[in-house]
Amino acid sequence: MRVVRTISDLQGLDLGPVGFVPTMGALHEGHVSLMRLAREVGGSVVVSIFVNPTQFAPDEDFASYPRREEGDIAVAERAGVDVIFAPSTEEVYQSPTTSVVPRGAVASGWEAARRPGHFAGVATVVLKLFNIVRPKTAFFGLKDIQQCAIIKKMVSDLNCGVALRFGPTVRGPDGLALSSRNAYLSNEERRIAPLLHGEICKVASSLLEKRGEDAVSASVANLENAGFTVDYLEIVDVETFLPSRDISKNLRVIAAAWLGRARLIDNEPIGAETFT
Ligand code: AMP
Repeated sequence: MRVVRTISDLQGLDLGPVGFVPTMGALHEGHVSLMRLAREVGGSVVVSIFVNPTQFAPDEDFASYPRREEGDIAVAERAGVDVIFAPSTEEVYQSPTTSVVPRGAVASGWEAARRPGHFAGVATVVLKLFNIVRPKTAFFGLKDIQQCAIIKKMVSDLNCGVALRFGPTVRGPDGLALSSRNAYLSNEERRIAPLLHGEICKVASSLLEKRGEDAVSASVANLENAGFTVDYLEIVDVETFLPSRDISKNLRVIAAAWLGRARLIDNEPIGAETFT
């Protein structure tokens, strides 16, 4: 496996068709599942490790975001990755004045509302990385479902010519979605954290039993009582990200909540997975 730090070194490699997994590092089994999916699809596997400053608001955790490059290199090597692309901030950004700003319902509520500018930072860096890496296929995790929807729309709106594959959320044995930010949890918070997924699943099953609205407010109360501060917990139509209870649509329970210093996000489809 090669570790490459500059765009020109990366573009000098003869990689053939590339499967690309963009990450911010602190790699865990969620990232590894996307690397394995890329391996299965075939071609060379390129993983980027870049903590993108433009997707963090000034009051967010850019400075303290976990950085563990040595461990990440070992994890990626074991997963059969061909190239790690780990550029510096200066390599990626030179006083830019152009960015991609996602608009519309999908890019307005939930994460977009709580984290102004976040998805512009994400869309811009993903488009830049697509232009740098020139992948045939790119792999994203459904744990970040709104990000998946926004990137899917960007690829279509801007004719990126990149095939997208979305991988299922990888969880701990207790249901907690793996996340680099779980490192912020104390032992006690880590014990409580799986409740977020538990309540999401309760809301999903109760809607199928036609008790949606009650279940949402009951779950928010349960989470708050357990020590979470809930940013949002809703049932949305995944085509629009607008609240819906129409089970003929592709519905999803989405949630974000603070637990101590960690902001956890998670989601589950109602019924079988339909987001592709
Ligand atoms: P990040 O490093 O957090 O920016 O994530 C990089 C990619 O890994 C994104 O496409 C995420 O959606 C995906 N990812 C993060 N956590 C998980 C998880 N637990 N299961 C599956 N994919 C994940």
